[in-house]
Amino acid sequence: SKRNGRNQFAFYFDDLKLETNKGILIDHELRQAIKNNDFTLNYQPKVDLKKNAVIGFEALVRWNNDKLGFVSPGIFIPYAEETGLIIPLSELIIEQACLDWIKLDRLGNGHLSIAINISSIHFHQENFIDSIQQILERNNCSPRNFELELTERTVMNNERETIRKLVLLKQLGFKLSIDDFGTGYSSLSYLVQFPLNYLKIDQSFIQLIGSLNEKQAVVDAIIQMAHRLHMEVIAEGVEQKEQVELLRNMGCDMIQGYYYSKPMPIREAIDYLEFWKLEIEG
Ligand code: C2E
Ligand code: CA
Ligand code: CA
Ligand code: CA
Repeated sequence: SKRNGRNQFAFYFDDLKLETNKGILIDHELRQAIKNNDFTLNYQPKVDLKKNAVIGFEALVRWNNDKLGFVSPGIFIPYAEETGLIIPLSELIIEQACLDWIKLDRLGNGHLSIAINISSIHFHQENFIDSIQQILERNNCSPRNFELELTERTVMNNERETIRKLVLLKQLGFKLSIDDFGTGYSSLSYLVQFPLNYLKIDQSFIQLIGSLNEKQAVVDAIIQMAHRLHMEVIAEGVEQKEQVELLRNMGCDMIQGYYYSKPMPIREAIDYLEFWKLEIEG
């Protein structure tokens, strides 16, 4: 009926207004949060299956806001990208990762690397390499201890410029990963051209490998292909022992996921390393 239609419209309109207000609020709060450096980083271990050792951590940003509560990066990173706030935010994140790596180093874990997620918007800025290099230098950190995680979407954009940047970053000593592999473009030609160290298989492929033979076949094929192209493979979102065993049998190099640990504050991450050593020794 007409009446019903009007109600639906009203609902839709209210939702839209709510969304817009929420967007304005997030935007405003993000600006404040950047000024106050209200962000922290949590660290999730990457475990090398052959060495049976933690070889590094992925840094994942966390934001707990007075008004909005805990906001997931899956929500606020896209907002920051839309408004350009991603640039100052990324700089804060890289700086914090340096400070945390220094904490690792002071406790004898300087051989571990920290992986930083790089937004496409940041990567494609003209001065991206200068800006990241400056932050590292200011903190007496070397690119050798950092890994940059770039999504397929990021590297598929502006190919020539991308290759130039990746080659330069690699020369500087950064390790380079392709993140969320399998969720973006289907073209694989870039894998041959780009100097990538690691391929991270997206968690959507990992979740069903125990029960779906087709998923297993795809993961197996990705691992073989990556190895032929001299890349190491990291499986993300691994939650079960059965998945670890399947991945080990397929020759997967590294595992990341709740099976080993959720992302945690740097202090806990350092404790986790001690715990891990005790487990291995005893
Ligand atoms: P991502 O880079 O693919 O990160 C992996 C996400 O999976 C993280 O969510 C992590 O907490 C979650 N995860 C890890 N292990 C498991 C598991 O075993 N099971 C399940 N279900 N999930 C697992 P998070 O921290 O919420 O981050 C979401 C996304 O936000 C990231 O996806 C990344 O795209 C973005 N992001 C996070 N931190 C940063 C950052 O510092 N900078 C930028 N540019 N983006 C970030
Ligand atoms: Ca990532
Ligand atoms: Ca990922
Ligand atoms: Ca993801």
